[in-house]
Amino acid sequence: VRELTEVAPGVYVTTAELYTTTSTVIADGHGGCLVIDPAVTVAEVSELAAALEARGLRPVAGWSTHPHWDHVLWSARLGDVPRYGTEAAVAVAERARAELIDELTTSAPRHDLQRFGRLTALAGEMIEWRGPAVHVLAHQAHAPGHGALLLPEAGVLIAGDMLSDIEIPLLDVADQDPAGQYRAGLELLAGAQGVEVIVPGHGHVGDRAELGRRVRADLRYLDALQRGDAAAGRDERIGESWLRPEHDRQFARLHA
Ligand SMILES: [Zn+2]
Repeated sequence: VRELTEVAPGVYVTTAELYTTTSTVIADGHGGCLVIDPAVTVAEVSELAAALEARGLRPVAGWSTHPHWDHVLWSARLGDVPRYGTEAAVAVAERARAELIDELTTSAPRHDLQRFGRLTALAGEMIEWRGPAVHVLAHQAHAPGHGALLLPEAGVLIAGDMLSDIEIPLLDVADQDPAGQYRAGLELLAGAQGVEVIVPGHGHVGDRAELGRRVRADLRYLDALQRGDAAAGRDERIGESWLRPEHDRQFARLHA
């Protein structure tokens, strides 16, 4: 059974091997739970379901932080409950469905396509459920309709694909103003009140000090990127990883 780490009272994080992808589970205090970004391989999602069963936590809803293939997964074992996303995210998941399925079948084959990417648009800025208050912080950085979640009682910020210790800011290069949108999203997350724990979509859970460090590192990267400064490419998170071509692509997008 997969390990669930309690990062704050009633908030659990598990990390998939593929891309160090995190999934977060919030207990509602009545035997139910909200499952955020269950990931990534078929085996990993089913281990997550088993871990929830072992703890007596039954999913009552899901949340997809953004419409990228590795954040819109689901399985029958998690139950057929609504999986929410922002309105913009739901629109993209529908419009780009063929592309998402392509990426999925290349990187994590044999998922249940019936349940893949089927999202319900959340009306309003809070998840309607019996559990603790969950606020949606919607912005357009990294992907359209990116929705981070803030749990004010527990002091947890579930950042989606932002605030990572292992990834540089990855811009939505299809946006008209990718850098501006990224800065706006980062500002929104950095300004969230009472955050003691951050959970990035890929990477490691951090505390309040780590939140500050990551915001500064991301701003340093963005500043250099926008200036067209080669220093951006020396961000230590890039190294020789898959982030190198991603960096080159967004550099070219801003300085073509
Ligand atoms: Zn993403």
